[in-house]
Amino acid sequence: MTSSTDPVKNLAQLIACPSVTPAEGGALTTLETMLSPLGFTVERPIFSEDGTPDVENLYARRSGNGPHLMFAGHTDVVPVGDEAAWTYPPFSAAIYNGEMYGRGAVDMKGGIACFAAAVARHIEKNGALKGSISFLITGDEEGPSINGSGKLLEWAKAKGETWDAAIVGEPTNPDKLGDMIKIGRRGSLSGTVTVHGIQGHAAYPHLAENPVRGLVTLVDSLLYPAFDKGTKHFQATNLEVTTVDVGNPAVNVIPAKATATFNIRFNDTWTDETLMAEIHNRLDKASGRRKLRPGRKTPVNYELVWRDRPSHVFLTHDEKLIGTLTASVEAITGKRPQLSTSGGTSDARYIKDYCPVVEFGLVGQTMHMVDERVAVADLETLTQIYERFIADFFA
Ligand SMILES: [Zn+2]
Repeated sequence: MTSSTDPVKNLAQLIACPSVTPAEGGALTTLETMLSPLGFTVERPIFSEDGTPDVENLYARRSGNGPHLMFAGHTDVVPVGDEAAWTYPPFSAAIYNGEMYGRGAVDMKGGIACFAAAVARHIEKNGALKGSISFLITGDEEGPSINGSGKLLEWAKAKGETWDAAIVGEPTNPDKLGDMIKIGRRGSLSGTVTVHGIQGHAAYPHLAENPVRGLVTLVDSLLYPAFDKGTKHFQATNLEVTTVDVGNPAVNVIPAKATATFNIRFNDTWTDETLMAEIHNRLDKASGRRKLRPGRKTPVNYELVWRDRPSHVFLTHDEKLIGTLTASVEAITGKRPQLSTSGGTSDARYIKDYCPVVEFGLVGQTMHMVDERVAVADLETLTQIYERFIADFFA
């Protein structure tokens, strides 16, 4: 028996690597050491871009005759926070009371440890694979996500790689293993609205133009009415105003400008283009309303700047992939998982452009927290689910 068949050992080795994003921390080397003896060809491309740290990634493939299954994930972890507050040191992989402690235990070195163990067990039982398996692992998921999965997919595609299906090992279960498979994700879009006014004396408002009045009208138009009621697989689109800034220390001065920043999580009613158009439309209409601006005939003077890159919304329709994973989860846990699109974005948003993708991993309750930890029993259960999935996928 090779040691990689044991997910608990695999995870302990991975947790011991301090791979706080963007540091490799030995985590990819450790994974390479697990995969090479299993017949995987391992490559570790480093990607760079001005203004962001260089990041090392890993692509490993073992080829066989048949479909190509990708397992995707990340070995980088978020910072430990207050190290003194941890019950056991964050890179110690200490086990207490049936739980293994460590940064990345569930997000998501645990998922990688289990998938590697599942592949090792499958190969041990069956010999050759009835298809190909690849690991697409980045060190840039918790960071800026510039030199990670997006570039790694392009890089692999340029070498001629194609995939039939992908599974991402992020922690998808809210409470118990088997609760939830993610079959899509909402999109995310952020912007900042700045209203320009004319500074002046608060006692002589007719000589000035208060940008706060304009901003309040514009923000109101973003909040009401609701964008939609939600769709079959998605929650309703939601906009949150995340900050409003005027920065005016004086009580008797009308300020010159005011800004508000918002983030929208949107469903498949929209694309980022149609939603951007909707936002522009709402702001243009509201800027002409003279509500709150007595005596003003000119529209509110505003500008809108989109922040970061939008994340696209997506929904996976592949029935074979979803059905096979659902059946595997049910066979091992006895529970039928909910198919969900809730939560934040993940690297699945890049993979969906190459092949159908679903996400299933550990229980996410302690991710990013002090004392991140995983039930040791869950590691064995998840390994069995993945092993069953691999067998059925290639059957
Ligand atoms: Zn993660």
